[in-house]
Amino acid sequence: MLRIAYARVAQESNAFSPVLTELLDFERCHFHEGADLHHRCGPKGQEVVDWIKNAELSGFRRAVSKLGRGQIEAVPLFGAWAIPGGPLSVTCFSTLRDKLTAMLKAAGPVDGVFLSMHGAMMAQGSDDPEADLVDAVRAVVGPDVKIAVSLDLHAQLHGRFVDNVDVLCGYRTNPHRDHVRVGFRCGSILVAALLGEVAPTSAWRSLPLICGGGTTIDFLPTMRPIYRWMKRAERDPRVLYVSLFNAHLWNDSPDLGWASHVVTDNDPALAERLAEELADLLWSVRHEQPPTFPEGHEVVAMVRQARLQRMLGTVCVCDASDIVGCGAAGENTRLLASILEQGQGLTCFVPVRDAEVVDALFGHPVGERVSVHVGGKLHPEVNTPLRIDGTMLASRDGGGLGRTIALDLGHVKLVVTSGPAMAMKPAFYSDLGLDPWRADMVVVKSMFPFRLYFLGHNRKTIYARTKGVTDFDTMHQVAFNDAVHPRDLVEHWRPADRRRRGVPTA
Ligand SMILES: [Zn+2]
Repeated sequence: MLRIAYARVAQESNAFSPVLTELLDFERCHFHEGADLHHRCGPKGQEVVDWIKNAELSGFRRAVSKLGRGQIEAVPLFGAWAIPGGPLSVTCFSTLRDKLTAMLKAAGPVDGVFLSMHGAMMAQGSDDPEADLVDAVRAVVGPDVKIAVSLDLHAQLHGRFVDNVDVLCGYRTNPHRDHVRVGFRCGSILVAALLGEVAPTSAWRSLPLICGGGTTIDFLPTMRPIYRWMKRAERDPRVLYVSLFNAHLWNDSPDLGWASHVVTDNDPALAERLAEELADLLWSVRHEQPPTFPEGHEVVAMVRQARLQRMLGTVCVCDASDIVGCGAAGENTRLLASILEQGQGLTCFVPVRDAEVVDALFGHPVGERVSVHVGGKLHPEVNTPLRIDGTMLASRDGGGLGRTIALDLGHVKLVVTSGPAMAMKPAFYSDLGLDPWRADMVVVKSMFPFRLYFLGHNRKTIYARTKGVTDFDTMHQVAFNDAVHPRDLVEHWRPADRRRRGVPTA
Protein backbone atom coordinates (compact mmCIF):
# COMPACT_ATOMS: atom_id res chain seq x y z
CA MET A 1 0.00 0.00 0.00
CA LEU A 2 1.30 3.46 -0.96
CA ARG A 3 0.66 6.28 1.50
CA ILE A 4 0.04 9.99 0.91
CA ALA A 5 -0.02 12.31 3.91
CA TYR A 6 -2.23 15.38 3.46
CA ALA A 7 -2.50 18.71 5.25
CA ARG A 8 -3.53 22.32 4.84
CA VAL A 9 -1.79 25.44 6.09
CA ALA A 10 -3.37 28.41 4.37
CA GLN A 11 -3.97 32.09 4.76
CA GLU A 12 -3.84 35.08 2.44
CA SER A 13 -1.83 37.67 4.35
CA ASN A 14 -1.71 41.42 3.94
CA ALA A 15 1.77 42.86 4.52
CA PHE A 16 0.34 46.32 5.18
CA SER A 17 -1.93 45.34 8.05
CA PRO A 18 -0.34 45.64 11.51
CA VAL A 19 -2.94 43.21 12.93
CA LEU A 20 -0.88 40.01 13.14
CA THR A 21 -2.54 36.66 12.53
CA GLU A 22 -2.43 34.39 15.59
CA LEU A 23 -3.28 30.75 16.20
CA LEU A 24 -6.69 31.82 17.49
CA ASP A 25 -7.54 33.13 14.01
CA PHE A 26 -6.95 29.65 12.57
CA GLU A 27 -8.82 27.96 15.44
CA ARG A 28 -11.82 30.21 14.85
CA CYS A 29 -11.98 29.41 11.14
CA HIS A 30 -10.70 25.88 10.32
CA PHE A 31 -8.44 23.83 12.55
CA HIS A 32 -8.87 20.05 12.45
CA GLU A 33 -6.64 17.04 12.57
CA GLY A 34 -6.49 13.28 12.14
CA ALA A 35 -9.79 11.38 11.98
CA ASP A 36 -11.81 14.60 12.35
CA LEU A 37 -10.16 16.14 9.28
CA HIS A 38 -10.47 12.84 7.38
CA HIS A 39 -14.21 12.69 8.03
CA ARG A 40 -14.67 16.35 7.05
CA CYS A 41 -12.96 15.75 3.71
CA GLY A 42 -14.94 12.58 3.06
CA PRO A 43 -18.22 12.24 1.17
CA LYS A 44 -20.39 13.18 4.15
CA GLY A 45 -18.23 15.83 5.76
CA GLN A 46 -18.21 19.61 5.77
CA GLU A 47 -14.61 20.62 5.11
CA VAL A 48 -14.81 24.25 6.25
CA VAL A 49 -17.74 25.00 8.55
CA ASP A 50 -19.96 27.94 7.59
CA TRP A 51 -18.03 28.54 4.42
CA ILE A 52 -17.44 25.75 1.95
CA LYS A 53 -18.65 22.15 2.07
CA ASN A 54 -15.89 20.68 -0.03
CA ALA A 55 -12.52 22.23 -0.80
CA GLU A 56 -9.09 21.08 -1.99
CA LEU A 57 -8.61 18.30 0.56
CA SER A 58 -12.00 16.77 -0.30
CA GLY A 59 -10.96 16.91 -3.95
CA PHE A 60 -7.66 15.23 -3.12
CA ARG A 61 -9.45 12.43 -1.24
CA ARG A 62 -11.78 11.86 -4.22
CA ALA A 63 -8.74 11.52 -6.48
CA VAL A 64 -7.24 8.91 -4.17
CA SER A 65 -10.41 6.84 -3.99
CA LYS A 66 -11.27 7.18 -7.70
CA LEU A 67 -7.82 6.75 -9.23
CA GLY A 68 -5.76 5.05 -6.51
CA ARG A 69 -6.92 1.56 -7.59
CA GLY A 70 -7.14 0.54 -3.93
CA GLN A 71 -3.37 0.85 -3.74
CA ILE A 72 -3.17 4.24 -2.04
CA GLU A 73 -4.04 5.31 1.47
CA ALA A 74 -4.72 8.98 2.31
CA VAL A 75 -3.23 9.78 5.71
CA PRO A 76 -4.69 12.91 7.38
CA LEU A 77 -2.34 15.24 9.25
CA PHE A 78 -4.10 18.52 10.00
CA GLY A 79 -5.84 21.44 8.34
CA ALA A 80 -5.45 25.09 9.35
CA TRP A 81 -7.08 27.96 7.47
CA ALA A 82 -7.64 31.52 8.66
CA ILE A 83 -9.52 34.54 7.36
CA PRO A 84 -7.05 36.92 5.67
CA GLY A 85 -5.20 39.28 7.99
CA GLY A 86 -1.77 40.67 8.76
CA PRO A 87 1.29 38.38 8.61
CA LEU A 88 1.45 35.39 10.98
CA SER A 89 3.24 36.11 14.24
CA VAL A 90 6.54 34.30 14.84
CA THR A 91 4.86 32.02 17.41
CA CYS A 92 1.86 31.30 15.21
CA PHE A 93 3.99 30.32 12.23
CA SER A 94 6.50 28.21 14.15
CA THR A 95 3.66 26.41 15.95
CA LEU A 96 2.02 25.48 12.63
CA ARG A 97 5.33 24.45 11.04
CA ASP A 98 6.34 22.31 14.02
CA LYS A 99 2.90 20.71 14.16
CA LEU A 100 3.18 19.82 10.48
CA THR A 101 6.56 18.14 10.85
CA ALA A 102 5.66 16.43 14.14
CA MET A 103 2.49 14.91 12.68
CA LEU A 104 4.30 13.92 9.51
CA LYS A 105 6.96 12.10 11.53
CA ALA A 106 4.29 10.44 13.68
CA ALA A 107 2.47 9.26 10.52
CA GLY A 108 5.40 6.97 9.64
CA PRO A 109 6.89 6.48 6.17
CA VAL A 110 4.95 8.05 3.29
CA ASP A 111 5.36 7.97 -0.51
CA GLY A 112 3.77 11.33 -1.19
CA VAL A 113 2.61 14.52 0.52
CA PHE A 114 -0.36 16.65 -0.56
CA LEU A 115 -0.49 20.21 0.78
CA SER A 116 -3.30 22.70 0.34
CA MET A 117 -1.79 26.18 0.59
CA HIS A 118 -2.60 29.73 -0.44
CA GLY A 119 0.77 30.83 -1.78
CA ALA A 120 0.54 34.41 -0.48
CA MET A 121 0.91 33.66 3.20
CA MET A 122 3.29 35.96 5.06
CA ALA A 123 4.92 35.45 8.42
CA GLN A 124 7.16 37.54 10.62
CA GLY A 125 10.78 36.49 10.20
CA SER A 126 10.23 34.61 6.91
CA ASP A 127 10.59 35.78 3.31
CA ASP A 128 8.48 32.86 2.03
CA PRO A 129 6.55 30.85 4.66
CA GLU A 130 5.21 28.32 2.15
CA ALA A 131 8.78 27.61 1.00
CA ASP A 132 9.76 27.15 4.66
CA LEU A 133 6.91 24.69 5.15
CA VAL A 134 7.88 22.68 2.06
CA ASP A 135 11.54 22.72 3.20
CA ALA A 136 10.44 21.40 6.61
CA VAL A 137 8.38 18.64 4.95
CA ARG A 138 11.30 17.81 2.64
CA ALA A 139 13.61 17.51 5.63
CA VAL A 140 11.31 14.84 7.07
CA VAL A 141 10.48 12.84 3.92
CA GLY A 142 13.70 13.20 1.93
CA PRO A 143 14.33 14.13 -1.71
CA ASP A 144 12.51 11.20 -3.38
CA VAL A 145 9.03 11.56 -1.91
CA LYS A 146 6.70 13.48 -4.24
CA ILE A 147 5.20 16.69 -2.90
CA ALA A 148 2.07 18.16 -4.52
CA VAL A 149 0.72 21.60 -3.60
CA SER A 150 -2.54 23.28 -4.56
CA LEU A 151 -2.47 27.08 -4.55
CA ASP A 152 -4.76 30.08 -4.76
CA LEU A 153 -4.75 32.04 -8.02
CA HIS A 154 -3.16 34.91 -6.07
CA ALA A 155 -0.11 32.96 -4.97
CA GLN A 156 3.31 34.57 -5.20
CA LEU A 157 5.85 32.20 -6.73
CA HIS A 158 9.51 32.19 -5.70
CA GLY A 159 12.17 29.77 -6.91
CA ARG A 160 12.91 28.41 -3.46
CA PHE A 161 9.32 27.15 -3.28
CA VAL A 162 8.71 26.11 -6.90
CA ASP A 163 11.96 24.15 -7.20
CA ASN A 164 11.16 22.03 -4.14
CA VAL A 165 7.64 20.99 -5.24
CA ASP A 166 6.89 18.17 -7.72
CA VAL A 167 3.30 19.03 -8.65
CA LEU A 168 1.85 22.52 -8.41
CA CYS A 169 -1.71 23.48 -9.40
CA GLY A 170 -3.47 26.84 -8.95
CA TYR A 171 -7.15 27.79 -8.94
CA ARG A 172 -8.52 28.56 -12.38
CA THR A 173 -11.47 30.76 -11.42
CA ASN A 174 -11.85 34.28 -10.05
CA PRO A 175 -14.01 34.64 -7.94
CA HIS A 176 -12.64 31.29 -6.73
CA ARG A 177 -15.12 28.44 -7.05
CA ASP A 178 -12.99 25.48 -8.15
CA HIS A 179 -11.36 24.48 -4.85
CA VAL A 180 -12.53 20.85 -5.12
CA ARG A 181 -11.66 20.56 -8.78
CA VAL A 182 -8.13 21.84 -8.25
CA GLY A 183 -7.66 19.51 -5.26
CA PHE A 184 -8.89 16.63 -7.39
CA ARG A 185 -6.67 17.40 -10.37
CA CYS A 186 -3.60 18.08 -8.24
CA GLY A 187 -4.28 14.88 -6.27
CA SER A 188 -4.79 12.92 -9.52
CA ILE A 189 -1.37 13.92 -10.83
CA LEU A 190 0.25 12.94 -7.54
CA VAL A 191 -1.59 9.60 -7.52
CA ALA A 192 -0.61 8.89 -11.14
CA ALA A 193 2.99 9.81 -10.34
CA LEU A 194 3.09 7.39 -7.41
CA LEU A 195 1.58 4.64 -9.55
CA GLY A 196 4.31 5.23 -12.12
CA GLU A 197 1.85 6.38 -14.79
CA VAL A 198 3.34 9.88 -15.23
CA ALA A 199 6.60 11.65 -14.45
CA PRO A 200 5.80 15.32 -13.69
CA THR A 201 8.24 17.94 -14.91
CA SER A 202 7.59 21.67 -14.72
CA ALA A 203 8.59 25.13 -15.83
CA TRP A 204 7.57 28.61 -14.73
CA ARG A 205 8.03 32.30 -15.47
CA SER A 206 7.81 35.32 -13.14
CA LEU A 207 6.67 38.64 -14.60
CA PRO A 208 7.46 42.15 -13.32
CA LEU A 209 3.71 42.79 -13.42
CA ILE A 210 1.56 43.50 -10.38
CA CYS A 211 -1.68 44.80 -11.82
CA GLY A 212 -3.30 44.13 -15.20
CA GLY A 213 -5.95 41.96 -16.84
CA GLY A 214 -8.78 44.45 -16.17
CA THR A 215 -11.04 43.08 -13.44
CA THR A 216 -9.11 39.75 -13.69
CA ILE A 217 -12.46 37.93 -13.49
CA ASP A 218 -12.02 34.66 -15.37
CA PHE A 219 -15.23 34.83 -17.42
CA LEU A 220 -14.94 38.48 -18.50
CA PRO A 221 -13.34 39.47 -21.83
CA THR A 222 -9.76 40.38 -20.85
CA MET A 223 -8.85 37.15 -19.09
CA ARG A 224 -11.31 34.72 -20.72
CA PRO A 225 -9.22 34.05 -23.85
CA ILE A 226 -6.19 33.27 -21.68
CA TYR A 227 -8.07 30.72 -19.60
CA ARG A 228 -9.34 29.21 -22.86
CA TRP A 229 -5.77 28.97 -24.14
CA MET A 230 -4.80 27.11 -20.96
CA LYS A 231 -7.66 24.67 -21.40
CA ARG A 232 -6.65 24.04 -25.02
CA ALA A 233 -3.03 23.49 -23.98
CA GLU A 234 -4.22 20.81 -21.56
CA ARG A 235 -5.89 18.84 -24.37
CA ASP A 236 -2.38 17.62 -25.22
CA PRO A 237 -1.99 14.43 -23.12
CA ARG A 238 1.61 15.42 -22.38
CA VAL A 239 0.35 18.50 -20.52
CA LEU A 240 -0.79 17.70 -16.98
CA TYR A 241 -1.67 21.16 -15.65
CA VAL A 242 -1.32 24.83 -16.56
CA SER A 243 -1.54 27.61 -13.94
CA LEU A 244 -1.46 31.37 -14.05
CA PHE A 245 -1.00 33.48 -10.94
CA ASN A 246 -2.36 37.01 -10.66
CA ALA A 247 -0.23 37.96 -7.62
CA HIS A 248 -1.64 39.05 -4.30
CA LEU A 249 -1.44 42.84 -4.47
CA TRP A 250 -0.80 43.31 -0.77
CA ASN A 251 2.30 41.17 -0.59
CA ASP A 252 5.60 42.97 0.00
CA SER A 253 7.84 40.50 -1.81
CA PRO A 254 10.59 42.42 -3.63
CA ASP A 255 9.94 40.01 -6.54
CA LEU A 256 6.17 40.49 -6.55
CA GLY A 257 4.49 39.63 -9.82
CA TRP A 258 2.25 37.51 -12.00
CA ALA A 259 3.50 34.07 -12.96
CA SER A 260 2.90 31.16 -15.32
CA HIS A 261 3.51 27.54 -14.38
CA VAL A 262 3.19 24.36 -16.44
CA VAL A 263 3.41 20.69 -15.45
CA THR A 264 4.04 18.18 -18.22
CA ASP A 265 4.51 14.44 -18.31
CA ASN A 266 8.25 13.92 -18.67
CA ASP A 267 8.61 16.72 -21.22
CA PRO A 268 10.61 19.60 -19.75
CA ALA A 269 11.06 21.31 -23.12
CA LEU A 270 7.30 21.45 -23.69
CA ALA A 271 6.79 22.82 -20.17
CA GLU A 272 9.34 25.55 -20.88
CA ARG A 273 7.73 26.47 -24.21
CA LEU A 274 4.19 26.68 -22.77
CA ALA A 275 5.27 28.60 -19.66
CA GLU A 276 6.97 31.10 -21.98
CA GLU A 277 3.91 31.40 -24.26
CA LEU A 278 1.57 31.86 -21.32
CA ALA A 279 3.85 34.54 -19.87
CA ASP A 280 3.67 36.40 -23.20
CA LEU A 281 -0.13 36.20 -23.08
CA LEU A 282 -0.21 37.54 -19.53
CA TRP A 283 2.14 40.36 -20.50
CA SER A 284 -0.18 41.25 -23.41
CA VAL A 285 -3.04 42.24 -21.05
CA ARG A 286 -0.92 44.36 -18.71
CA HIS A 287 -2.38 47.64 -19.92
CA GLU A 288 -5.94 46.63 -18.97
CA GLN A 289 -6.06 48.18 -15.52
CA PRO A 290 -8.85 47.71 -12.97
CA PRO A 291 -11.42 50.53 -12.89
CA THR A 292 -10.93 53.44 -10.49
CA PHE A 293 -13.49 53.68 -7.73
CA PRO A 294 -15.65 56.59 -6.49
CA GLU A 295 -15.30 57.91 -2.93
CA GLY A 296 -17.85 57.56 -0.12
CA HIS A 297 -20.07 60.60 -0.79
CA GLU A 298 -20.31 59.78 -4.51
CA VAL A 299 -21.23 56.21 -3.63
CA VAL A 300 -24.14 57.29 -1.43
CA ALA A 301 -25.46 59.48 -4.27
CA MET A 302 -25.13 56.55 -6.70
CA VAL A 303 -27.10 54.28 -4.38
CA ARG A 304 -29.82 56.92 -4.04
CA GLN A 305 -30.12 57.15 -7.81
CA ALA A 306 -30.45 53.38 -8.20
CA ARG A 307 -34.18 53.45 -7.40
CA LEU A 308 -35.28 50.49 -9.50
CA GLN A 309 -32.44 48.28 -8.29
CA ARG A 310 -33.26 49.12 -4.67
CA MET A 311 -36.93 48.30 -5.27
CA LEU A 312 -36.07 44.91 -6.75
CA GLY A 313 -33.33 44.01 -4.30
CA THR A 314 -30.37 45.78 -2.82
CA VAL A 315 -27.18 47.57 -3.86
CA CYS A 316 -23.96 45.91 -2.66
CA VAL A 317 -21.18 48.37 -1.88
CA CYS A 318 -17.70 46.95 -1.42
CA ASP A 319 -15.45 49.04 0.82
CA ALA A 320 -12.52 48.43 -1.52
CA SER A 321 -9.90 50.06 0.72
CA ASP A 322 -10.75 47.91 3.73
CA ILE A 323 -11.40 44.45 2.30
CA VAL A 324 -11.23 41.85 5.04
CA GLY A 325 -11.14 39.16 2.37
CA CYS A 326 -7.79 40.67 1.31
CA GLY A 327 -6.38 41.03 4.81
CA ALA A 328 -7.63 44.41 6.04
CA ALA A 329 -8.93 44.64 9.60
CA GLY A 330 -12.38 45.91 8.59
CA GLU A 331 -12.30 48.84 11.02
CA ASN A 332 -12.22 51.72 8.51
CA THR A 333 -15.06 54.15 9.31
CA ARG A 334 -14.89 56.55 6.34
CA LEU A 335 -17.70 54.92 4.38
CA LEU A 336 -19.81 54.64 7.56
CA ALA A 337 -19.30 58.37 8.17
CA SER A 338 -20.43 59.26 4.62
CA ILE A 339 -23.49 57.02 4.93
CA LEU A 340 -24.46 58.45 8.33
CA GLU A 341 -24.15 62.00 6.99
CA GLN A 342 -25.71 61.63 3.57
CA GLY A 343 -27.70 58.40 3.51
CA GLN A 344 -30.89 59.56 5.30
CA GLY A 345 -33.92 57.71 3.98
CA LEU A 346 -31.80 54.76 2.74
CA THR A 347 -31.73 51.63 4.88
CA CYS A 348 -28.04 50.75 5.04
CA PHE A 349 -26.33 47.71 6.58
CA VAL A 350 -22.71 48.42 7.51
CA PRO A 351 -20.01 46.30 9.23
CA VAL A 352 -17.16 47.46 11.45
CA ARG A 353 -14.63 45.62 13.59
CA ASP A 354 -14.23 46.72 17.19
CA ALA A 355 -13.60 44.12 19.87
CA GLU A 356 -13.69 46.71 22.69
CA VAL A 357 -17.19 47.84 21.77
CA VAL A 358 -18.41 44.25 21.43
CA ASP A 359 -16.92 43.35 24.81
CA ALA A 360 -18.57 46.36 26.43
CA LEU A 361 -22.03 45.84 24.92
CA PHE A 362 -22.43 42.12 24.24
CA GLY A 363 -25.69 40.76 25.67
CA HIS A 364 -27.03 44.18 26.65
CA PRO A 365 -30.83 44.45 26.38
CA VAL A 366 -32.41 45.27 23.04
CA GLY A 367 -33.38 48.93 22.89
CA GLU A 368 -30.70 50.11 25.36
CA ARG A 369 -29.23 53.47 24.35
CA VAL A 370 -25.63 53.30 23.20
CA SER A 371 -23.03 56.01 22.61
CA VAL A 372 -19.52 54.84 21.70
CA HIS A 373 -16.58 55.36 19.36
CA VAL A 374 -16.20 52.54 16.80
CA GLY A 375 -13.24 51.51 14.61
CA GLY A 376 -9.78 53.00 14.24
CA LYS A 377 -8.25 51.17 17.18
CA LEU A 378 -6.09 48.52 15.51
CA HIS A 379 -4.48 50.61 12.78
CA PRO A 380 -4.97 54.24 13.88
CA GLU A 381 -2.43 55.55 11.32
CA VAL A 382 -4.95 54.67 8.61
CA ASN A 383 -8.34 54.40 10.32
CA THR A 384 -10.16 56.94 12.49
CA PRO A 385 -12.56 56.15 15.36
CA LEU A 386 -16.10 57.45 14.76
CA ARG A 387 -18.58 58.51 17.44
CA ILE A 388 -21.97 56.86 17.02
CA ASP A 389 -25.28 57.06 18.91
CA GLY A 390 -27.99 54.43 18.69
CA THR A 391 -29.66 51.51 20.40
CA MET A 392 -28.89 47.81 20.88
CA LEU A 393 -30.49 45.50 18.33
CA ALA A 394 -28.94 42.05 18.84
CA SER A 395 -25.98 40.00 20.13
CA ARG A 396 -24.68 36.76 18.68
CA ASP A 397 -21.81 34.36 19.36
CA GLY A 398 -20.63 31.86 16.76
CA GLY A 399 -20.59 31.35 13.03
CA GLY A 400 -16.81 31.59 12.80
CA LEU A 401 -16.88 35.33 13.51
CA GLY A 402 -16.71 35.19 17.28
CA ARG A 403 -19.00 37.60 19.14
CA THR A 404 -20.93 40.18 17.13
CA ILE A 405 -23.56 42.78 17.98
CA ALA A 406 -25.97 44.83 15.89
CA LEU A 407 -26.74 48.47 16.64
CA ASP A 408 -29.60 50.61 15.32
CA LEU A 409 -28.30 54.04 14.28
CA GLY A 410 -31.50 55.11 12.52
CA HIS A 411 -31.11 54.59 8.77
CA VAL A 412 -27.89 52.66 9.43
CA LYS A 413 -27.89 49.19 11.01
CA LEU A 414 -24.33 48.62 12.18
CA VAL A 415 -22.86 45.16 12.79
CA VAL A 416 -19.83 45.30 15.11
CA THR A 417 -17.53 42.26 15.18
CA SER A 418 -14.83 41.27 17.64
CA GLY A 419 -12.79 39.41 15.01
CA PRO A 420 -12.26 40.31 11.32
CA ALA A 421 -15.44 41.93 9.96
CA MET A 422 -15.87 39.36 7.19
CA ALA A 423 -19.04 40.77 5.61
CA MET A 424 -19.24 38.51 2.54
CA LYS A 425 -22.47 36.50 2.82
CA PRO A 426 -26.08 37.53 3.54
CA ALA A 427 -25.87 35.49 6.79
CA PHE A 428 -23.40 38.07 8.17
CA TYR A 429 -26.44 40.32 8.56
CA SER A 430 -29.39 37.93 8.63
CA ASP A 431 -27.92 35.94 11.56
CA LEU A 432 -28.44 39.13 13.59
CA GLY A 433 -31.99 39.60 12.33
CA LEU A 434 -31.07 42.06 9.56
CA ASP A 435 -32.77 40.90 6.36
CA PRO A 436 -30.82 42.05 3.26
CA TRP A 437 -34.12 42.21 1.31
CA ARG A 438 -35.07 45.18 3.50
CA ALA A 439 -31.83 47.05 2.83
CA ASP A 440 -31.29 49.67 0.12
CA MET A 441 -27.56 49.27 0.54
CA VAL A 442 -25.46 46.46 2.00
CA VAL A 443 -21.78 47.16 2.67
CA VAL A 444 -19.46 44.18 2.17
CA LYS A 445 -15.75 43.75 2.90
CA SER A 446 -15.03 41.12 0.27
CA MET A 447 -13.43 41.68 -3.14
CA PHE A 448 -15.20 39.13 -5.37
CA PRO A 449 -16.82 36.24 -3.46
CA PHE A 450 -19.75 38.37 -2.23
CA ARG A 451 -20.91 38.60 -5.85
CA LEU A 452 -21.70 34.90 -5.73
CA TYR A 453 -23.20 34.85 -2.24
CA PHE A 454 -25.37 37.94 -2.78
CA LEU A 455 -26.38 36.94 -6.31
CA GLY A 456 -30.02 36.59 -5.22
CA HIS A 457 -30.25 39.99 -3.50
CA ASN A 458 -27.79 42.15 -5.39
CA ARG A 459 -29.07 44.36 -8.23
CA LYS A 460 -26.07 46.69 -8.50
CA THR A 461 -22.47 46.49 -7.34
CA ILE A 462 -20.42 49.55 -6.43
CA TYR A 463 -16.80 49.58 -5.25
CA ALA A 464 -15.83 52.50 -2.99
CA ARG A 465 -12.36 53.91 -2.37
CA THR A 466 -12.00 55.00 1.25
CA LYS A 467 -8.16 54.94 1.68
CA GLY A 468 -6.78 51.87 3.39
CA VAL A 469 -4.50 48.88 3.24
CA THR A 470 -6.27 47.24 0.27
CA ASP A 471 -6.01 50.13 -2.17
CA PHE A 472 -4.68 48.98 -5.53
CA ASP A 473 -1.55 51.14 -5.27
CA THR A 474 -0.57 50.31 -1.67
CA MET A 475 2.22 48.00 -2.83
CA HIS A 476 3.86 50.80 -4.85
CA GLN A 477 5.74 51.75 -1.67
CA VAL A 478 7.60 48.40 -1.65
CA ALA A 479 11.27 48.42 -2.68
CA PHE A 480 10.98 46.00 -5.61
CA ASN A 481 14.08 44.35 -7.07
CA ASP A 482 12.97 45.24 -10.61
CA ALA A 483 10.98 47.93 -12.34
CA VAL A 484 7.37 46.67 -12.23
CA HIS A 485 4.35 47.46 -14.35
CA PRO A 486 2.23 49.58 -13.87
CA ARG A 487 4.25 51.53 -11.29
CA ASP A 488 7.26 51.79 -13.62
CA LEU A 489 7.79 51.77 -17.33
CA VAL A 490 8.81 48.23 -18.27
CA GLU A 491 9.43 47.24 -21.86
CA HIS A 492 10.29 43.55 -21.57
CA TRP A 493 9.45 40.99 -18.91
CA ARG A 494 12.28 38.54 -19.63
CA PRO A 495 15.23 40.23 -17.85
CA ALA A 496 13.34 40.35 -14.52
CA ASP A 497 12.12 36.79 -14.99
CA ARG A 498 15.62 35.49 -15.63
CA ARG A 499 17.03 37.24 -12.60
CA ARG A 500 14.17 35.98 -10.42
CA ARG A 501 14.58 32.37 -11.55
CA GLY A 502 18.38 32.56 -11.36
CA VAL A 503 18.80 31.90 -15.08
CA PRO A 504 21.85 33.57 -16.68
CA THR A 505 20.89 36.42 -19.00
CA ALA A 506 21.43 35.55 -22.64
ZN1 LIG B 1 -7.29 34.50 -4.38
